[in-house]
Amino acid sequence: MNLVYEITPKFPHRHIFLVKATLANPNPLGQVFMLPNWIPGSYLIRDFAKNIVSISVTSKGNEIPIKKLDKNHWIVSPCRDSIVVEYEVYAFDLSVRSAYLTNERAFFNGTSVFLLPIGFEEYECELVVNLPDNESVLGDWKCATTLSLKTKKATSQTYVADNYHDLIDHPVEMADFKVIEFYANQIPHQMTLTGLNTAVTERLKSDLIAICEHHLNFFGDIVPFDNYLFLTLVRSKGYGGLEHKKSTSLICSREDLPVKGVTSISSEYTKFLALCSHEYFHAWWIKTIKPSNFHEFDYDQENYTEQLWIFEGFTSYYDELSLLRTKILTPEQYLTLFSQNVTKIQRCNGRYKQSIAESSFDAWTKFYKQDENAVNSIVSYYSKGALLAFVLDIEIRRATNDTKTLDDIV
Ligand SMILES: [Zn+2]
Repeated sequence: MNLVYEITPKFPHRHIFLVKATLANPNPLGQVFMLPNWIPGSYLIRDFAKNIVSISVTSKGNEIPIKKLDKNHWIVSPCRDSIVVEYEVYAFDLSVRSAYLTNERAFFNGTSVFLLPIGFEEYECELVVNLPDNESVLGDWKCATTLSLKTKKATSQTYVADNYHDLIDHPVEMADFKVIEFYANQIPHQMTLTGLNTAVTERLKSDLIAICEHHLNFFGDIVPFDNYLFLTLVRSKGYGGLEHKKSTSLICSREDLPVKGVTSISSEYTKFLALCSHEYFHAWWIKTIKPSNFHEFDYDQENYTEQLWIFEGFTSYYDELSLLRTKILTPEQYLTLFSQNVTKIQRCNGRYKQSIAESSFDAWTKFYKQDENAVNSIVSYYSKGALLAFVLDIEIRRATNDTKTLDDIV
């Protein structure tokens, strides 16, 4: 293979991953490498390269000079032979957007750890993930990801990716996690739960099957994956999710998960199921069907679109509506949630200042960088986009005598 990455959770106590990128035929004029400044799905410049704490290059055992060009680009001196770039990445971000390493858990998104050799964006590549030695971590670590598995050994697993874009769209989790396995429309699905919890997995499983089958039936013939993975980090407090084509990374609070002896649905568990529903819907709605300029991302800078109200707003409408359609929520429970969303929008004076198309366009500097004035100056393309989806749905139903709905457009 022309391009091979190898990642090792080398120093869990120092939160350091060691990464090696081996490139068989670098540009003989000098090979440039870059690390993305943002992660698709989260529209903020995060400058992941700031976490690279050391970098060096060798070729056939000899050191080759490497020079930094700007905050996220490096150039390796001209070399006609294979080169190995070796670097350390500091990983201590507990969010779904970057990378994290302690003796309890390793997690990474490719955007935080894999340097891209410029010119090799479309090349197939291989990834070797080394498990840590058992003495340095707690529990019996396994590895979960939707990257395509090539070989599996006791101490490492090797995966292949179609190209760099594919490589960075599969987060990887290593820990002593709990696994829930199920089939939805005959397609294998998994949820991993990392972190202390007493969740009733049978209830979670049956609710997830209902939600996944709803979305699979909703989109019909197009299924963008042959297996799907929910990677869940359970914490004392936390909430968040990030979509990928075959998986999603989630963070939830321990109290969000269903517990023994309780059969009613809490607002916390509803919120968690809506999050699962939301990210799973994205496998189609933004990962497959997407704004035109999202087909080729520029990983260096902001990628502007006015359409996030369609992709996030409609997803927000259907994430809760599907809980009603699957009877996880009663109509009363659904309408309570719906009214809360309306109240949230009505209370925000920013809706008089910003349209949802503007909110989408300026997501990078406004929605993702909210300050004390946000309530007066911006509107959420999630909440108002969901409300617009509802209005469109009602309008289509009215105009077609209930023969068509928003479902027919999506
Ligand atoms: Zn979303």
